[in-house]
Amino acid sequence: MTGPPMGTSKTEPAALRVPLADPLFYSLQGEGATLGRPSVFIRLMGCTVGCVWCDTKYSWEGPPVCELSAEEILAYCRERKGCQVIVTGGEPLESPAFFPLIDVLKEAGLRVEVETSGYIEPGPALLDRIDQWNVSPKLKSAAIAVDKQPQSLEWLRRAKEPFLKFVLHKTDEIAEVEALLGRYGLEDFPLDRIIISPGGKKYEHMKPRLLPLAEAALEKGWRFTPRLHVILWGDKRGM
Ligand code: SF4
Repeated sequence: MTGPPMGTSKTEPAALRVPLADPLFYSLQGEGATLGRPSVFIRLMGCTVGCVWCDTKYSWEGPPVCELSAEEILAYCRERKGCQVIVTGGEPLESPAFFPLIDVLKEAGLRVEVETSGYIEPGPALLDRIDQWNVSPKLKSAAIAVDKQPQSLEWLRRAKEPFLKFVLHKTDEIAEVEALLGRYGLEDFPLDRIIISPGGKKYEHMKPRLLPLAEAALEKGWRFTPRLHVILWGDKRGM
């Protein structure tokens, strides 16, 4: 599935309304390549992927917790000097606000990371504008429908700073990650751009998975990151 084009007309920040699943929040990036980096999180509404273990099911459908203008979002970001922005969800590429919001954030010169399941393929203009893609294809444990799995991830080769991020619940799933890399023709994807992280909504659920997965990552030459926000704040929303 391919997303719509973007950047075809100038988006006025005051006119763009953005429905959110959580109020804007400022925290540390909890996982992936920029783990620990101070960031403003924009959690867009909407997701039809349906992962059974989703920890943000409240983002799947409305009503939103609040709706801000893009101008208000920019003001919040500007108050937090040096921060980057993480656009997440939900599945952010499903949100009608996503494409115009990216226009506004990039026009303002912000560094933008996008967290996506990867089932909607971004068009070329979007690929050029996003500073970092954190793409998280789902394993069988997510029990999602076939049409919610990416048809192709070839576009990652054309993206700036692409990372593949897999959330694992047991080391058996390493073989599944390798099979997915094969399915998408990404066997030669740079090893340091493949990241595995332990699933679990609470630290006590995640803790027994840390060492086995860290050792598995070492063996494969992949990156490993814990999910820092879960260690620090558990399943508290907005952190
Ligand atoms: S894609 Fe993300 S938000 Fe959507 S169901 Fe899966 S984990 Fe939840």
